[in-house]
Amino acid sequence: MSDTVSVYIHVPFCIKKCSYCDFYSTNTLSFLPAYVNSLQREIGIRTGLAGLAGPAKKNAQTIYFGGGTPSLLPLEEVEKILGTVCACYQVLPNAEITFEVNPGTVDEPYLSGLKNLGVNRLSIGVQSFDTAKIKVLNRIHSIEESIGAIGAAKSAGFENIGLDLIYGTPGETREKWIQDLKTALEFKVAHLSCYMLTLESGTPLQAQYEKGLFQMHGPDILTDFFMATSTFLGQQGYEHYEISNFARGRENRSRHNSNYWNMTPYDGFGPSAHSFGFPIEKGLDARDTCLASPERSWNPADVNAYVQSLSSGVLQAREREVLSCRQQMLERVMLGLRTSDGFDMAVFKKISGQGYLKGITPLLARLETQGLGAVLPGSVKRFQLTLSGRARLDSIVEAFADIIL
Ligand code: SF4
Repeated sequence: MSDTVSVYIHVPFCIKKCSYCDFYSTNTLSFLPAYVNSLQREIGIRTGLAGLAGPAKKNAQTIYFGGGTPSLLPLEEVEKILGTVCACYQVLPNAEITFEVNPGTVDEPYLSGLKNLGVNRLSIGVQSFDTAKIKVLNRIHSIEESIGAIGAAKSAGFENIGLDLIYGTPGETREKWIQDLKTALEFKVAHLSCYMLTLESGTPLQAQYEKGLFQMHGPDILTDFFMATSTFLGQQGYEHYEISNFARGRENRSRHNSNYWNMTPYDGFGPSAHSFGFPIEKGLDARDTCLASPERSWNPADVNAYVQSLSSGVLQAREREVLSCRQQMLERVMLGLRTSDGFDMAVFKKISGQGYLKGITPLLARLETQGLGAVLPGSVKRFQLTLSGRARLDSIVEAFADIIL
């Protein structure tokens, strides 16, 4: 049986850095053609399909173009990349193919072109419909361009559209944020991602904060924003299925990101892209057991070195981390608790053995008594956090870590 994975393509180019962002990207767009050639080589070499002989192709159930700004790729380059992915993987007929779009970089012909190439889901980074907020975030686009991009996506025939939004910017009130959400709802999109603004080290926003140019909201106010977002979007028919993600029905959840939270293997390509998988030789049956030894690996965040290395047909050395049994247990819990499906107690027991399940039982009982979590009824026992529990996710995960690690 072939392995089934998600495929991630990191496109490390942006026109200008947004004030809050610490994702790897460069504004040296002249690297773009060489980057695409290198990417095609990386995919070919790592799947074993660059030469004549290769292993059986893996099934790709999702493909995700993230960045950076994937919508800076000309359509011909997107076609080349998708062609390589289709040559090196068995792309499943119903595969979800997502493309992240910056509203300042697209028009209707471009989005129609993506649709014709097989992209079936768009994630549009509008971030806000408030001009002052867009300015604080140092985005390259106007509100009019965001609205134009959503309209163009619909005209191009996309039904599965997600909008990315940010809340908790300096000076923003809960009322202003809910107004921002109300504007987003007017577009009746399938999916909303609502990210709480955080100060990442090395970003211009953090530097401004350290100079005392503004104050960030405290944890109580941010919790209030979080709870209000969930309640308001719930009333509007959006299911809060992951800490920052809301879908109009289960069918509109991001399948690609859900695979990350389920610890399904993924192959990431491009500078800084991460991959996660299980050693093939241990077989599919070893997963969900202590024998699995899953591995996370990632490319260096340097497009120049990436291109130089792959132009001579050589893969860069990748950083690697093999998860111990305890790390695997904690990740299952941590990722599961982010979602409304919670974590699977049967899998936890299989990985950890009865002893560990007994170890966490008092914590589960305490969370239940405090109204922070509950065991969901059903054939497979899953433990899920309530909304109040999810608002305290970090401290709850720490409590699990104290027991498991
Ligand atoms: S466009 Fe996206 S990846 Fe690029 S700097 Fe802004 S937030 Fe970061």
